[in-house]
Amino acid sequence: MTKEQYLGCIYGLAIGDALGFPNEFNDRKTNLLIRGNELTDFEPTIFNRSKGKTKITGKKRKFIPAEDFPAGTYTDDTQMSLAIARALLKSNLKKYSIKEIMSNVKEELVLWVNDEQTNRTPGKSCIAGCRKMEQGVSWEESGDYNAKGCGAAMRSAPLGLIFPNNLEKLIETADAISKCTTKYPPAISAGIGTAYLTALALQKTNPSTFLKRILKKDFFDDTFKQKITQIQDLSSNKNPFEMIEQLGQGWRGEEAVAIALYCFLRSPEDYSKSVLTAANIDGDTDSVACITGAISGTYNGITKIPEKWIQNIENSKYLRKIGEKLFEKNG
Ligand SMILES: [Mg+2]
Repeated sequence: MTKEQYLGCIYGLAIGDALGFPNEFNDRKTNLLIRGNELTDFEPTIFNRSKGKTKITGKKRKFIPAEDFPAGTYTDDTQMSLAIARALLKSNLKKYSIKEIMSNVKEELVLWVNDEQTNRTPGKSCIAGCRKMEQGVSWEESGDYNAKGCGAAMRSAPLGLIFPNNLEKLIETADAISKCTTKYPPAISAGIGTAYLTALALQKTNPSTFLKRILKKDFFDDTFKQKITQIQDLSSNKNPFEMIEQLGQGWRGEEAVAIALYCFLRSPEDYSKSVLTAANIDGDTDSVACITGAISGTYNGITKIPEKWIQNIENSKYLRKIGEKLFEKNG
């Protein structure tokens, strides 16, 4: 467990998120048509306000961002992961108390939901859960059973960095941090899933055992496990995007983790290949690439992430500071 891996996790998830952002609200076909090929680098995110619709759902977008965003901008996924990281850094982990951790998580998430930079298409359920906590509802009660999205899964990677050797604490904290916005069991499992996969990556566990390890654990619910089981049946020789289509689009928590794991397992030693596959899927590109980036960045370490992305990611110095502090906290 090296400092390079801690930095790899934080940069890895933020860079994946930023790569996926421009593709988030178009389907893959449209993205290919607009660009002429796949996305290979940071690009600005430009919203087509005249249509005001997502191509995927056809529904009117309720949330229209105030501005377009320059290349290298990360989204709510990274912002929330950083909020969780700060909450863990503030907590006295030697006197581990879930009450203290969740009080710090609440404080950070309430700051996040009120921040003017929370304008990068954050998930509705995440916003609703944070607003409830702000109004005094306890974290045990603030989550919604109908929140089936990947909000819990995309923010839980820092837990894998802090509790890599203590499965009990990892599960308890990931469960609580998921529950503050969702009560839907597969979405909670997905939150625990990202934390667990990050811990496995940090320990340099052989990636070929990842699937087996998840399927053996009884703290994951059946719907989540069924989705993970599907990866086993996918051929790694075929077009990855055809394979990923069989897993879904990643809008749901269990799909996002399964697709991210598939993107990692196709090229475990190659950070760029894994995140670019995730950023080009037909679906929730920023969240899936964020989770993929957390797992692959942790496994490979910062030295395997292209320097141009490290330099050009938003708030690069701050990301380094958080990664270093998390390393010191655990080490
Ligand atoms: Mg996002």
